[in-house]
Amino acid sequence: MVPFIDLRREYEEVRSDVASAISRVLDSGWFVLGNEVTQFEQAFADYVATKYAVGVNSGSDALFLALKALGIGRTDEVITVSHTVVSTADAIVRCGAKPVFVDITPDTYCIDVARIEERITERTKAILPVHIYGHPAELDRITKLAKQYDLFVVEDACQAHGAEYKGKKVGSFGDAGCFSFYPTKNLGSYGDGGMVVTDNKDLAKKVELLRNYGQSRKYYHDEVAVNSRLDELQAAVLGVKLSHLNEWNERRRRLAGLYVELLDGTNVTLPVEKGYAKHVYHLFVVRLPQRDVCQRSLQKAGIQTQIHYPIPVHKQKAYAWVANATKLEETEVACDQILSLPLYPCLTRDEVAEVAGVMKRACC
Ligand SMILES: *Cc1c(COP(=O)(O)O)cnc(C)c1O
Repeated sequence: MVPFIDLRREYEEVRSDVASAISRVLDSGWFVLGNEVTQFEQAFADYVATKYAVGVNSGSDALFLALKALGIGRTDEVITVSHTVVSTADAIVRCGAKPVFVDITPDTYCIDVARIEERITERTKAILPVHIYGHPAELDRITKLAKQYDLFVVEDACQAHGAEYKGKKVGSFGDAGCFSFYPTKNLGSYGDGGMVVTDNKDLAKKVELLRNYGQSRKYYHDEVAVNSRLDELQAAVLGVKLSHLNEWNERRRRLAGLYVELLDGTNVTLPVEKGYAKHVYHLFVVRLPQRDVCQRSLQKAGIQTQIHYPIPVHKQKAYAWVANATKLEETEVACDQILSLPLYPCLTRDEVAEVAGVMKRACC
């Protein structure tokens, strides 16, 4: 039996530090927007190497508030991918703007940069690349296009805490970088949480305003906004876990290396790590023509797998109104062939070997 994920194993490694962080918050009697959030924001900004970080309620809201703070609104278009969590596109629509989907490259599953330019119109305001599965999108070419056409770049780094593009952390390339602290992410809280990082002071101030009822000072509201705050308990927990993030990512990378070693030479298409990339393997996604048959065989052998994601955003009922002239061929083929194998820092090498062994017998 190999579970797809088991967060209790990770908790064992931080149990006592988490317990003291939680009691510190409970003893303080202060639960929303206090020292814990400020300290974690600073620590996270230092980690990503941006000047500012603003804690919010989720990765979804990080994307929404970053776009809103940049002034994205009605009649605007934002270029992104359909091969992502639906909330990437939701964030655009919640601003009143329209998502314009570009296909992915079949090896990294990130936005196909060569297809961006043909979708730029006079309404385009931003490019929103997703560093899917923990592999960075091609940020040099994206930021260059953005400069050429005067567009903003907002990075969806919700699966890529610690991932690097040419030696620099993702999230620090765009006008804003957005992170999620959903429990299963590379850095996860014990509930919901998110972060917007940026080097732009005005943008950081704007997100701070928007996350807290548009309040510039107590009882003065400059904008109609939302309540989307990171709370003190989650910030304290995240502060503890941030100190483990590099090591946990290294373990993910070593386990990914073991999968690659064991499955090399089979008909399973393995994930790639481009020369410019440091992959943090939020997910270990392989590709097989007989995906469904393989998944069932693995299930019978007690090995849990998942599909991220079986239905692309442009095929969702909620997005039927987004007319898309371009066919997203690679996106659609990928959805039928991808399979996420168990991969998390506390998975054992024996478990990886077990998964690979069953795959070789049942899927190759
Ligand atoms: C998790 C995730 C989100 C949303 O984050 P939440 O914290 O769950 O709202 C957005 N985009 C991507 C790529 C994600 O993986």
